[in-house]
Amino acid sequence: MARVVDEFMAAVVAKNPEQKEFHQAVHEVVESIMPVLDRRPEYRKAKILERIVEPERVIMFRVPWVDDQGTVQVNRGFRVQFNSAIGPFKGGLRFHPSVNLGIIKFLGFEQVFKNSLTTLPMGGGKGGSDFDPKGKSDMEVMRFCQAFMTELYRHVGPDSDVPAGDIGVGGREIGYLFGQYKKIVNRFEGVLTGKGLKWGGSLIRPEATGYGQVYFAEEMLNTRGQTIKGKRCVVSGSGNVAQYAAEKVLQLGGKVLTFSDSNGFIVDEEGMDAKKLAFVMELKNVKRGRIKEYVDKYPKAHYQALEASAKCNPLWQVKCDVALPSATQNEINDADAANLVKSGCTCVSEGANMPTTPEGVKVFIESKILYGPGKAANAGGVATSGLEMSQNSMRLSWSREEVDQKLHGIMRSIHKACVETAQAYGTPGNYVNGANIAGFVKVADTMMDMGVV
Ligand code: NDP
Repeated sequence: MARVVDEFMAAVVAKNPEQKEFHQAVHEVVESIMPVLDRRPEYRKAKILERIVEPERVIMFRVPWVDDQGTVQVNRGFRVQFNSAIGPFKGGLRFHPSVNLGIIKFLGFEQVFKNSLTTLPMGGGKGGSDFDPKGKSDMEVMRFCQAFMTELYRHVGPDSDVPAGDIGVGGREIGYLFGQYKKIVNRFEGVLTGKGLKWGGSLIRPEATGYGQVYFAEEMLNTRGQTIKGKRCVVSGSGNVAQYAAEKVLQLGGKVLTFSDSNGFIVDEEGMDAKKLAFVMELKNVKRGRIKEYVDKYPKAHYQALEASAKCNPLWQVKCDVALPSATQNEINDADAANLVKSGCTCVSEGANMPTTPEGVKVFIESKILYGPGKAANAGGVATSGLEMSQNSMRLSWSREEVDQKLHGIMRSIHKACVETAQAYGTPGNYVNGANIAGFVKVADTMMDMGVV
């Protein structure tokens, strides 16, 4: 089996050189689904695996814009339309200087299986730009978004490809992108999700990824007769996902100890409360400040700067029961994973996409802690985007309770699918195999139904 995986991966690497995050994401899925190919030889014959790692379409484009000084700036835009077997391409846009084709392909690939798990009819895609919104004025962000959409509009649509937010793309950016799309096509339609409530957005969409991540943690804990209540939770990141993961932990009676950003992290041993969380939301979403400012307001907490060259991240040494990584890819390596397990952490629910390196994942699996990979645990965001699409098509809005109930139900179904599939394939409790296989089979069966296209 290992030889087949190695041969397949050698071909993927040769064809997609220097896209290491994409290789990492493909490797994990291919490893998980080998037993499926053994049971279903028709997939091999139809070259499902070879087809599924090849995006249906990759779009790369120039994004020229003018900054506040009147200087012309040039960024690169991407949209990777990975797989539309089960529905229109769906997946967020990321604006971050680290964005390149390999990153967008890894995210788009993960999205295919995640969207399949949600039970909703959505294909997988992802996009973004190497534009850095940090330190830019509102008007610069607006001009960039307008320039980005001036090309993107011709490739997206409510029935073909529906982007949403991701790192660096929140309500403000979705507003500017939607405004430009509407102006160009002269139609008001659900081409983006994460929209404002007054113009087609869904209640609970901003909360959905973080809420869903914590619902998933709670489902995992339930399998061992436990709940979040009273648990010490370490959260990384301080953006959209982290903020609402923290909010849900507080609602369920857990203790939130940390937040981070790319410069460092804060530890508040007293734990957050609604007031402290409101401060973080204002700091990050309105003032667009740094997390270290938390200790100016709450001096009992402490701040530690991160060193990029360090072998491990001290954030993951903070003693906890539950870890909620919610910042970015590969933020937990094997040393970090070992530190978490050593400190007594028994549950990891990933809000970020692929936050744990393959070596870190191995540590979690071998130690038999509850480990929910991002493509299952953070699927609540895109699931609620799917609910936003349904509301747009019906031209009505569901109440907060209705959407939250549907989100909760979807997270329960995803958890159930992971548990049952892992069991059916002889690896009980392995949510990585469960998520990869359950997500894959639905897409593979559909590709079989549709012929070689
Ligand atoms: P935001 O932009 O709102 O927040 C991102 C947070 O992560 C910030 O605190 C940011 O710090 C930190 N961060 C970003 N890049 C790095 C880095 N290279 N090193 C350390 N910290 C970093 O993004 P989201 O909260 O939306 O996204 C967070 C994660 O969740 C991502 O992996 C995303 O793909 C995933 N996700 C998001 C969904 C959504 O609905 N938004 C859905 C599913 C997954 P700083 O301010 O310093 O950059």
